[in-house]
Amino acid sequence: MRQGRTVWDAHTHIGTARHSGRAYSAAELIEDMDRHGVDCSVVIPFPVVDDYRAAHDEIGAAVRAHHGRLRGVACLNPYIPEAGFRDEVRRCREVHGFTALKLQPQYQALNPLWPTSEFFFETAQEHRMTLIVHTGTGIPYSLPSLYMPPARRYPELTFVLAHCGGGGLLVGEAIVAAQFCPNIVLELSTLMPNHILEVLQHVAADRLMAGSDLPENLEIEIAKIESLPVSEEDKRKILGCTAARVFGGPAA
Ligand SMILES: [Zn+2]
Repeated sequence: MRQGRTVWDAHTHIGTARHSGRAYSAAELIEDMDRHGVDCSVVIPFPVVDDYRAAHDEIGAAVRAHHGRLRGVACLNPYIPEAGFRDEVRRCREVHGFTALKLQPQYQALNPLWPTSEFFFETAQEHRMTLIVHTGTGIPYSLPSLYMPPARRYPELTFVLAHCGGGGLLVGEAIVAAQFCPNIVLELSTLMPNHILEVLQHVAADRLMAGSDLPENLEIEIAKIESLPVSEEDKRKILGCTAARVFGGPAA
């Protein structure tokens, strides 16, 4: 809670990242959440890990230990054998209660336009999981527009475009994707305040959510929403209500 508002961080990671060497524990996350007034966080494995099952188990244990404060997300290389991919996502859903599946195209080069990629969206749909897609770095498969066709084919699935196109470069594409697909939601980490105001001219606040991605960004990502010259209602939606609706939990 900050300034009387419930705050969700709709995008963070714990575990050990093989590609960057970064490590961040559940205990450190909870400490940072408390320090910055974050009520709930959506916790994703890093996209490259030594053991994706162990990464999911670490997040599952954290979700159970901090009941109500964390939502777990599955993230694994989609090009392991398909049966193994489906089994692991099912395990994440049924054993750990994860609410979302993440695709990180920068490290997991799945082309959302190819028919051979359909299993990915089918798996999320089968388990009623929200789909989070990293956008921005990792072009071409991280282009926001590429998720419009699957968003139309799977209207019951919610697609969260993480980073809203990434740093402002593709913010226009993310806006268009959200305009044409009502089941696309935008997570605003890496955008500057002026980009968010541009987004708000086209996409309602109940389809926007705040996220940090990494702990050193947490304070500034929340503060940038708090400082926007927008209504109190819009701030509450972006900081908490949208994520609570999408990932499940008490409304702000
Ligand atoms: Zn991330």
